[in-house]
Amino acid sequence: MAALETDTENAAPADAKVVIVGGGVAGCSLAYHLTRLGWTDVALLEADQLTSGSTWHAAGLCTQFVPSLNLMQLLRASLDLYRSLEDETGQRVDFHECGSVRLAATHDRMDEFFHRRGIAELVGVPVEIVGPERVQELFPLVDATGILGAAHLPTDGHVDPTSLTHALAAGALARSARIHLSTPVTAIERDGGTWTLQTSRGSVRAEIVVNAAGQWARRVGRMAGAELPIVPLQHHYVVTEPLAEIEALERELPVLRDADGSFYVRQEGNGLLVGPFEPDPKPWALDGVPDDFHGRLLPADLDQIEGVLATAAERVPAFAGAGIKTVVNGPDGYTPDGRCLMGPVPGLRSFHVLAGFSIFGIVYGGGAGRYAAEWIVDGQPGDTMWELDVRRFGEYARPTRYLADRAREVYEREYAIHYPEEELAAGRPVKTSPLYDTLRADGAVFGVRSGWERPLWFARNGEEPRDLYSFRRGNWHEAVGEECRAVRSAVGILDQTSFAKFEVSGPGAEAFLERLCANALPEETGQIVLTQMCTPLGGIECDVTVSRLGDDRFYVVSAAATETHDYAWLERHRPEDGSVRLANVTARSGVLTLAGPRSRDLLQALAREDVSREAFPFFRCRELELPVGPVLALRVSYVGELGYELHHPLEWQRALYEHLREAGRPLGLVDFGYRALESLRLEKAYRLWGADLSQDWTPLEAAMERFVRLDKGPFVGRDALLRQRDAGLERTLTCLSVDVDGADPHGLEPVRSGERIVGYVTSGGFGHTVGTGIALSYLPVGDAVPGTELTVEILGERRSAVVAAGPLYDPGNERPVA
Ligand SMILES: Cc1cc2nc3c(=O)[nH]c(=O)nc-3n(C[C@H](O)[C@H](O)[C@H](O)COP(=O)(O)OP(=O)(O)OC[C@H]3O[C@@H](n4cnc5c(N)ncnc54)[C@H](O)[C@@H]3O)c2cc1C
Repeated sequence: MAALETDTENAAPADAKVVIVGGGVAGCSLAYHLTRLGWTDVALLEADQLTSGSTWHAAGLCTQFVPSLNLMQLLRASLDLYRSLEDETGQRVDFHECGSVRLAATHDRMDEFFHRRGIAELVGVPVEIVGPERVQELFPLVDATGILGAAHLPTDGHVDPTSLTHALAAGALARSARIHLSTPVTAIERDGGTWTLQTSRGSVRAEIVVNAAGQWARRVGRMAGAELPIVPLQHHYVVTEPLAEIEALERELPVLRDADGSFYVRQEGNGLLVGPFEPDPKPWALDGVPDDFHGRLLPADLDQIEGVLATAAERVPAFAGAGIKTVVNGPDGYTPDGRCLMGPVPGLRSFHVLAGFSIFGIVYGGGAGRYAAEWIVDGQPGDTMWELDVRRFGEYARPTRYLADRAREVYEREYAIHYPEEELAAGRPVKTSPLYDTLRADGAVFGVRSGWERPLWFARNGEEPRDLYSFRRGNWHEAVGEECRAVRSAVGILDQTSFAKFEVSGPGAEAFLERLCANALPEETGQIVLTQMCTPLGGIECDVTVSRLGDDRFYVVSAAATETHDYAWLERHRPEDGSVRLANVTARSGVLTLAGPRSRDLLQALAREDVSREAFPFFRCRELELPVGPVLALRVSYVGELGYELHHPLEWQRALYEHLREAGRPLGLVDFGYRALESLRLEKAYRLWGADLSQDWTPLEAAMERFVRLDKGPFVGRDALLRQRDAGLERTLTCLSVDVDGADPHGLEPVRSGERIVGYVTSGGFGHTVGTGIALSYLPVGDAVPGTELTVEILGERRSAVVAAGPLYDPGNERPVA
């Protein structure tokens, strides 16, 4: 490791606007990008030397082939930077744009590649799907037996991690950032609106702290009072002696990934570097990474990786005969889903994180540093980073055992096929409602959101209750169709206990919510509104229902996945004068949803009150006395039918469910799951936050202006929305009916008008009632005219699609209000 020359190396650290803890690729990239955005009062504190954590020993592989639009954009930004950084800083970067070849040995894998190629077309990353002969040309050392094809990305490559990090640091230093080496942070306190960091060389005050401490980030988080879900896991690679086969080549080999064999190979000098993602990986230092673990490796454990290396030797026979020069076993910080943590840490003010890169920090580092810097400087990243947002996890992700189990599964499955609807198994169950065992006994197949087990579909008619995934149709397709038809024709019941539920009360509650919500709050007790909460730029930060329970009492309900995020958003804006009380009641309040034309009959069979249309209209809430006691009933529907959410104390849930089942039998009551919910809501073109709604789009673009009251007075984002309204919309969320044949859109498929890409599918699926594929997409207003003929590219095939005038089911919206 070369030491970086810094003029501040020996100086005591001085106060700074932003202090970054950690000088790996992440911390240096953040310093680089903050200074690029004009924030030059930046200090980086590194316990030892730059790169001395996980960065120095990385293999340096850089691919952009991920199943996410915004993350592919991030990775592309990384590589664009690595290509140009040397010219900018004069510091060697050593980026090799040698391309990559990812092998496919199964048809499902080919489907996966075609889906990802669609995303790459949107982002502008070149990808060609090639056959075995071309594979052989691209990587002559491969034995292509059993290979169906491959994805070739000519702009992928690899980079020298140490050179890259030093170049990023040099860029930051050139713009006046200060880097203090050998300066471990030992304590962090909040004091009078700023942070004080104790270091071995004195204390530093900062307005904003960023925890970029890699596998130490959990410990650094604890210093400030936050638990971050990161644990270290070991990863090996081996480097061979030079090979005559490589010496004879006139060009550098592309990076080879054998996804089905679970290993990667790249050229290192005239040898090979081979890294496995082996089964049963080993966590490390679960009780804390030792202070002196700098510039060090772990002992090599060849038994651990020999199985995958043997597979690699079959695929690349030259490797079989090569002498092993070096074995590297290094740890890196892993998160429960293998994606890093970025953004403001919930529960702390002005404290961000950028850590947990899970063996991908080199390729993510450049782009992640850019988005993290934008988040700090502009208040939000340039594109939504929900997939990396630290607030995607909740308290359930604290226990070390859970973290280790999740990390191991993510690692083992690094090269597995990642199906659109897949659910992972490790660390489950965590949170269950009282109905879990009952529903399971009735054939429920569960998925997980925010730690909660939720029924996805019910195996009936002797089917095996487990998911068999496909990029085409999973084995649940017919069962989900039956559930959908039962909901549309009779009544269904769904356990939605996982909903995030917050009580907002106090004399300042109304003004507080009015300032955050784009819709006007309900005026009368018992009324409900659907509303978005916007960012100052008008993007959709939260999508919630707000029920007024009293003069100064409100009940806010949002999706399970956004519990931590939405609560943090409320908490962050809450006035500090004590006038607003905020309570997260998610864990104590159960929700059973009734949906379908017979749901009123069912409710009336149990309620003592009159629940007729007149007595209990749409978008109202009221307390009802049911056999178990009083429950809060909300007359809302996410499936587009007459329906109710019954919010109740969790301890009553089993009894309430039994009463409903009993009373529902003559009405044709069925259990349904979240996969049916998804199909039903698509038929109604109801939007889903995280897919159709995000900070990237405003409620006006989402065609939700009926839920926005620009005339109600100031609220966060209003100015931006007014500007957009006056300027006119460029894009609008549009519903397409898609001609499908055994494969439905899932999301991120390109939408074209002729040869021109005009948008992409934000969410899609099959509508079992309307009998067609459905896609939602933000389209240029000129292409969003009803009847316009477009195509949606599904698994490499362009399927015809037509712009619909509105929702495909019940466009007049008569059924929910019936
Ligand atoms: C064997 C192996 C191969 C890999 N190969 C690849 C690859 O091919 N491609 C890829 O993209 N990624 C790869 N990675 C992953 C990559 O190395 C990491 O994800 C990345 O280096 C993480 O960078 P970081 O800045 O987050 O963490 P680190 O590099 O660990 O930096 C964190 C820094 O924080 C400092 N620090 C900790 N505590 C304190 C404190 N209290 N005060 C001050 N400073 C502190 C540490 O000293 C350290 O320097 C690999 C990882 C391993 C283990």
